[in-house]
Amino acid sequence: MSYGFLIDTTRCIGCEACVEACREIHGHPEGDVATLSAHAFTALNTHEIDDEEIFTRRMCMHCNDPSCASVCPVGAFTKTKLGPVTYDPDKCIGCRYCMVACPFEVPKYQWNKKQPLVQKCDMCFERISRGQLPACAEACEEGATVFGERSDLIKEARRRIEADPDTYHPYIYGLNEAGGTSVLFLSAVPIEQLDFKKEQFQQAFPHLTWNVLKEIPNVASFSGLFMYGLWWVINRRMELQKIKVSETASAVEEERS
Ligand code: SF4
Ligand code: SF4
Ligand code: SF4
Repeated sequence: MSYGFLIDTTRCIGCEACVEACREIHGHPEGDVATLSAHAFTALNTHEIDDEEIFTRRMCMHCNDPSCASVCPVGAFTKTKLGPVTYDPDKCIGCRYCMVACPFEVPKYQWNKKQPLVQKCDMCFERISRGQLPACAEACEEGATVFGERSDLIKEARRRIEADPDTYHPYIYGLNEAGGTSVLFLSAVPIEQLDFKKEQFQQAFPHLTWNVLKEIPNVASFSGLFMYGLWWVINRRMELQKIKVSETASAVEEERS
């Protein structure tokens, strides 16, 4: 069972409840609602088209075949069976290949932290594993962000287009883009007018990544070795730090007794 979102921009009123709910559950500070960042996992953009405002959400697309996962040398990203692409901070070595590889420019980095991590939406993985709705979908009273099984959402999107051809541009964004994504969009106008990338997005990107890498084996193996070396050094430092902390704790204990 693979879940996802149907985001119907024709129903979105720009109330920002989704952005606010996401912010609240992650303890993120107030700030710019229009830009994804290390402390904003979803954003809301406003477009003026024919004197009307159209609002579009931005977030991780939870690609069926995610390039962030395919380039990560230590397997910090996982496309889970439930649909979310999750990130394991304990595995991350901070190489930021994922940020370069993501076609939607989603992963962000905690540049201002001493031990920075990559940050992005995880489709509220813990909540949905417990049978709850993602916070943003729960907060959307307009039904503009709907959570469900991807196959049901596709059926629903097709039903809406067929039932109301005057409202919808007949295209489901995310059905094929980047090999298909768990987040699907409907809109009243061609989606490119809302700054969504469509051209050259009609296939999975890991396939392209691999095609490029396999042509240059030296580069691939060198970068693999380099990343492994880097990982080993960082891991070793962390282990040494742990040992130092536990030695200090034992010394303090000894002194007390
Ligand atoms: S949108 Fe980017 S970060 Fe999200 S799953 Fe796809 S490649 Fe990974
Ligand atoms: S699924 Fe969760 S983490 Fe992702 S945008 Fe919605 S509330 Fe934020
Ligand atoms: S909560 Fe729903 S209606 Fe409000 S901005 Fe988010 S998607 Fe749009």
